[in-house]
Amino acid sequence: MLSFEAARAKVIETIRAEKGLSVPARPTEKLDIAQTPALALGRVLAEAVICDRNYPPFDRSTRDGYAVRSSDFRESPAKLPLFGESRAGVPFAGELKAGACVRIMTGAALPKGADSVVMQEFTRAEGELIHFEKAPRQGQNVVPEGAEARKGEVALAQGTRLGFAELAMAAQVGQKSLRVFSKPRVAILSTGDEVVERDREPGPFQIRNSNSVSLAAQVTITGGEAVLLGNAPDRLSELRERIELGLQADILVISGGVSVGAYDLVETVLRELGTEFFFDAIAIRPGRPAVFGMVRGKPIFGLPGNPVSTMVTFELLAAPAIELLLGLDPGFLPLFKAKLRVAVEQNAPLTHFLPAQVTWPMSEPTVEPLPWEGSGDIGTITKANCFLVLHETNRKLKAGDWADVLPRRDKF
Ligand code: AMP
Ligand code: MG
Repeated sequence: MLSFEAARAKVIETIRAEKGLSVPARPTEKLDIAQTPALALGRVLAEAVICDRNYPPFDRSTRDGYAVRSSDFRESPAKLPLFGESRAGVPFAGELKAGACVRIMTGAALPKGADSVVMQEFTRAEGELIHFEKAPRQGQNVVPEGAEARKGEVALAQGTRLGFAELAMAAQVGQKSLRVFSKPRVAILSTGDEVVERDREPGPFQIRNSNSVSLAAQVTITGGEAVLLGNAPDRLSELRERIELGLQADILVISGGVSVGAYDLVETVLRELGTEFFFDAIAIRPGRPAVFGMVRGKPIFGLPGNPVSTMVTFELLAAPAIELLLGLDPGFLPLFKAKLRVAVEQNAPLTHFLPAQVTWPMSEPTVEPLPWEGSGDIGTITKANCFLVLHETNRKLKAGDWADVLPRRDKF
């Protein structure tokens, strides 16, 4: 059975090979960001954004103080007469002559002739005469024109995911629209005779379809567009029909029906449709019976139906598929280390993903697993901000040991 790392790598490698995504051949769209800049948040640039001018566009002061010529400071302290002011948006007109200074504000342009700024804190004004306690280094407290970026340079490369800083950069260089990759459409199909849609009252042994909801949220937060196909009963003909429908999307994610029970028919239907399977189990708990295949060039994920299994396997397997189709490199799984508050042990020879809470009480992250009732227990996940990863090869850890943690994408 594949480890979760190998399974995730298999998904990435298979989709890359199928789609030739090194330069993503994805459809693109143009987003108007003049009025609603946050519209582009989380999207991936299909085209580089270019600097329209030098940044900063002038020699910029980083402090409130006095613009001076550093060569005027042969002796220290020095006294220089004040000749005017340069403030943000309104520069000093003319040139700073030798033996004089100009008051300057943060973000203002350095006057011609000046080469540095002395912070106000190191000066004392006596009428129009300024006393300097400290001599400046040449260039001190000044960012020279073009030091951050030069006109014509790439400000944001193709393939960049747009977060708040990237949107600020697009705004800075005057973009009114951005060309981004279209969101991959991810069809979500729930299966199970016992599952009812949320607008219906469940019978005593029925349960509401929550997987379609968690999956839609996970798809959205990963950057895909969720297409909800509802729930199919455990019958071949109806499964076939819904799966066919799902294959119109870019990716199909199915919950339930992939275990070995008599009513687990998803694999049967996928096989009939000519799916090439790359794995149908991975060495994890929860989530062991997870299936990945390709049919008609589309990635298909069959995720086990227990809600926490569905959540974990989506993050491990389906999320990188969405990232690839979105134009991103899924890279590594964002595990980090935290110090265990208590001892943990699991017997089953699998890698365990245990709901847990990470906190930073002092300088170190610490993690504590939460008591839970297994993979049906959504309530415990609502109190967890991560999963503690207990690797198959090291399933017994002491309090104080460093453990791997998989953050919940929506909690960090
Ligand atoms: P399965 O993987 O089909 O054997 O499903 C395992 C269990 O997960 C079922 O017995 C249900 O309790 C639960 N389950 C399956 N599908 C859903 C769903 N869409 N929403 C919530 N729970 C589900
Ligand atoms: Mg089922």
